[in-house]
Amino acid sequence: MFGHRSADFAALYNRVQPGLQELFGTADPVYLFTNSSWGAMEAAIRNVTQKKVLNCMCGAFSDRWHEVSLACGKEAGALRFPWGHPVDPEAVAGELATGQYDSITLVHNETSTGVLNPLADLMAVVREFPEVISVVDTVSSFSAVSIDKDKLGIDVVLTGSQKALALPPGLALCSVSPKALDRAAKTPGRGFYFDYLNFQANHLKGTTPTTPNIPLIHALESKLADIFNEGLENRYARHATLNALVHSWVERNQFSLFPQKEFASKTLTCVNNTRDIDVPGFIALLKKRHNCVIDGGYGKIKGRTFRISNMGDETEETIGQLLKNLDNILAEL
Ligand SMILES: *Cc1c(COP(=O)(O)O)cnc(C)c1O
Repeated sequence: MFGHRSADFAALYNRVQPGLQELFGTADPVYLFTNSSWGAMEAAIRNVTQKKVLNCMCGAFSDRWHEVSLACGKEAGALRFPWGHPVDPEAVAGELATGQYDSITLVHNETSTGVLNPLADLMAVVREFPEVISVVDTVSSFSAVSIDKDKLGIDVVLTGSQKALALPPGLALCSVSPKALDRAAKTPGRGFYFDYLNFQANHLKGTTPTTPNIPLIHALESKLADIFNEGLENRYARHATLNALVHSWVERNQFSLFPQKEFASKTLTCVNNTRDIDVPGFIALLKKRHNCVIDGGYGKIKGRTFRISNMGDETEETIGQLLKNLDNILAEL
């Protein structure tokens, strides 16, 4: 172990920057937060919202961002879409046109419903409102589909270690534009632990404001090496292929996708329980017989849906084996 004010740490910090910047599609710095993604989400609200934030809500994670905004004492608007539907760019345009907002939150891949929101179309709308700082959660899409922060004009993009990156939990990554930093400089009540200005001042010295999770940053460096050895295009293609394998399993077994197909996530599949199987029983048996774990549906769609992930380091072999195991269990039910 070494200290976070050491030259060794600065070298490690600076070594992970270029890879992270490439994955985020940005020339802006990427701050390393020692906390899970919710910390980086709360940080965004506290640093960029002065007047009112528009929370675009279409599932458990985007819904909760509204609660976080209110819990931070901010004025917040709730633009709600039914679970399983994407955020509609026209509705966003209409709401922003009221002129009430100085910031907006979007979840790229809504993990609870398996919806991949149309980020490019949404950002085309948000760019029409230069006073609005955009904040995008890419927790379950980062490094699995391409994210063009600078090209799309996104101000703040964040992700966490334990979902699409398949690292242990405890680290969040967040890239912040100069425009968002300017906003932060004029925003009172940023707090201490999450202050972007403090992150930026330390970034310039190759370090973090407080003691970071150094072991996880080593793991991140190793993961970045794996990602670039595989090649980004290959990594994106692998996720698309594995996702298509899961989709064909869904069809073959007379289930259906919870979201509309054109907005379906590339990293996980949220499946409608159209056959009315006993989902908790299905999952328990899968664990018992094959030591595999899938999810039995999130929050209010628990049991009505179940979710199969293909994010991280899954391969055709591992997903193929999982789907075979699922077939065995279905035959047993
Ligand atoms: C898991 C998840 C989060 C929150 O992650 P924590 O690690 O629990 O803080 C936020 N957004 C999305 C889309 C997620 O999938």
